[in-house]
Amino acid sequence: MPIFEYKCKKCGHTMEFLEKVGSKNKHICEKCGNADMGKLFSGFSVGHGSNPVSQDNSSCPTGTCPLSQ
Ligand SMILES: [Zn+2]
Repeated sequence: MPIFEYKCKKCGHTMEFLEKVGSKNKHICEKCGNADMGKLFSGFSVGHGSNPVSQDNSSCPTGTCPLSQ
């Protein structure tokens, strides 16, 4: 289940929620009770489209990496 990070637009408090895809759950700030939370992108989505710096040298996503052997 993906983890989404939300930031309270009122006090700036950030929280992480487990959330099903397509869920319309309202999240409420645990600090100030404000329901106006902005969704941030957490690290979970890594691997969908963009390729961050790989820690695995066996593959070179760009094809331009220098050989390290
Ligand atoms: Zn808040």
